[in-house]
Amino acid sequence: MWERTTVRLTVIGSGPAAPQPDSPASGHLVQVDGTAVLLDCGYGVVGRLRSTMDPRSLTGVVIGHLHADHFLDLAALRYLHPWDGAHDGRPAVWLPPGGRTRLTGLARMMSERPTFFEDAFDLAEYRSDESFAIGALAIRPTPMQHYVPAWALTVSDGTGARLVYGGDTGPTDMLSEAARSADLFIAEATLASVDEDEPSRGHCTMEEAIGIAKGSGARHVLLTHYPSARRAELLAAASATMTGASSGVSISTVVESVAQVSIAVPGLEVEISAATESARKAATASEAATASEAASQSWPMGLPDASTISG
Ligand SMILES: [Zn+2]
Ligand SMILES: [Zn+2]
Repeated sequence: MWERTTVRLTVIGSGPAAPQPDSPASGHLVQVDGTAVLLDCGYGVVGRLRSTMDPRSLTGVVIGHLHADHFLDLAALRYLHPWDGAHDGRPAVWLPPGGRTRLTGLARMMSERPTFFEDAFDLAEYRSDESFAIGALAIRPTPMQHYVPAWALTVSDGTGARLVYGGDTGPTDMLSEAARSADLFIAEATLASVDEDEPSRGHCTMEEAIGIAKGSGARHVLLTHYPSARRAELLAAASATMTGASSGVSISTVVESVAQVSIAVPGLEVEISAATESARKAATASEAATASEAASQSWPMGLPDASTISG
């Protein structure tokens, strides 16, 4: 048995840089004990977030990297706050190094005053590998491999539940290390094929993401940052994993020892529980046993298309 906590992940947006018909860009909400933290805030996220909670009640927002599909809706969030910013409950907005200057530039581009964002948000810049706290959660940014500086975000609560959001990254040992023994590993599955990427690699395929989850001993991998047109393909792989189906499906040989694979869609909720130490050891010793407690998932099928990568 796993001991459960109240940490909850809600998918707000699972799309990549190219806008999708049925999902905002990147946005994943983590909630526990009155703390609500949004991991990334890409376009479309804040409007969609309103169907889950009042965005003005966010305790904080953390931006993993400064591509538009991961931070541009900070502008939308700002317009929900009082003009002079004089109010309780200002959200902590944690940015990558150099992020404050970038936001000031964005404010000017929007014909707003340079202090537009800091008037309403408590802005801060994190440093690589230095943890910080937002409410009841501790967050540790670790550098990844992308076209611009980018960080994975490891989120922990006081009971040891551990969520790792990889953000945008190519397959790298740094991602494998970050995801090690995660209770929930949110992994990008942007590419249909390695051929779509640059040789230096800035994104992952589904197979690479699941392979990293397997190698890291993550209990549950949630695939995100993908074009909607590829959802059926991702669902088939997840289904093959969970049913143990078919040696004829090549992906099943890759994922056979991952406890659970889910596909991110807006509105999907996943409860995250910390494995007990004894359970962790048991899971390590018996890789087949880790049928984790699944969040129920409804999967919209046959959605219209839109494709393309990057971001
Ligand atoms: Zn992206
Ligand atoms: Zn990116």
